[in-house]
Amino acid sequence: MKAMLLKSANTPLTLATVPDPVPGPGEAVVKVHACGVGLTIHHARAGRLKLDYPRILGHEITGEVVALGAGVTQLKAGDAVTAYFYLTCGECYWCRINRETLCENFGGYVGRECDGGYAEYIKLPARNFMKLPQGVDWKQHAAEWGVVCDAIATPVKVIRRARVTPNDTVAVFGAGGGLGVHMLMVARWARARKVIAVDVMASKFEACLKSGADATVDASSGRVAEQLLELTGGRGVDVAIDFVCSKQTLEAAQQSLGKGGRLVVLGGHGQPFEVNPRAMLQKELELIGSRYATRQEVLDSLDLVARGEVWPLVTEKVPFDQAESLHQRIEKGLITGRAALIMS
Ligand SMILES: [Zn+2]
Repeated sequence: MKAMLLKSANTPLTLATVPDPVPGPGEAVVKVHACGVGLTIHHARAGRLKLDYPRILGHEITGEVVALGAGVTQLKAGDAVTAYFYLTCGECYWCRINRETLCENFGGYVGRECDGGYAEYIKLPARNFMKLPQGVDWKQHAAEWGVVCDAIATPVKVIRRARVTPNDTVAVFGAGGGLGVHMLMVARWARARKVIAVDVMASKFEACLKSGADATVDASSGRVAEQLLELTGGRGVDVAIDFVCSKQTLEAAQQSLGKGGRLVVLGGHGQPFEVNPRAMLQKELELIGSRYATRQEVLDSLDLVARGEVWPLVTEKVPFDQAESLHQRIEKGLITGRAALIMS
């Protein structure tokens, strides 16, 4: 099959012919129709994550099942599926209580510890494939259906972790990024009182406003916490969600919180930051980590999209062999929302 291979750290993705994957016991092979391209994957392409090479990147797939290994009963040939990003055991304490992103036997990530979706076919443990809802026009919108498993599911989990209600004002740091835009969308869907987009690239604010933001804060001018306090009449925000996670954004996010405020920390730079314990006590603040999503949250997200409650923003759909040029644009921060590779 054809695949876009990452041959070593931070080298251009190159088109190669590799052996077709053959499913072993408990595994399935899927013909890929589309695969999402986002910053998480780009960190792998750019050599910022440890990988074995050569590697086929990508996890936000849409495709159809073409081959099953021994013992696989939950899928059949022709099923339309997407993929669950994490390789988990399904049996440990954390998997059993539906917090599988904390799996004690965590096996890594699709497209990093095993080959992913930048290829004609992908082989995974059968339990990593999740069926799309019945009756959806997935072939027509393969890119959008592919990105739901991360770009929608991760925000859906954040809404639950932070217990966002219609009384809450929500600020999203890094709102113009692939996850940020979808976070705005899902916060709007959750009927948050006010959704505020915070980003350093004002060129992305139009997309933020279209995706559900009521207001924007240009972080390039500094004074982020002050601007958020002004936008909330001095009350502060109820939920600050940080996809950037630099020392600067995390501290601004904490300072922008009002009473009962929740700060949700996701990936990004992951820099250490200072919190003010006195403010935490006096305002009963909460610091919350949120990691990807559970399988159920992926299924719930697929259902939301099937019902038309949210619709992913895929702004660029390019032929699969142009993956490298797409990654070059991601490196420069030029993509709004998600991008996707189309296989055929
Ligand atoms: Zn587990």
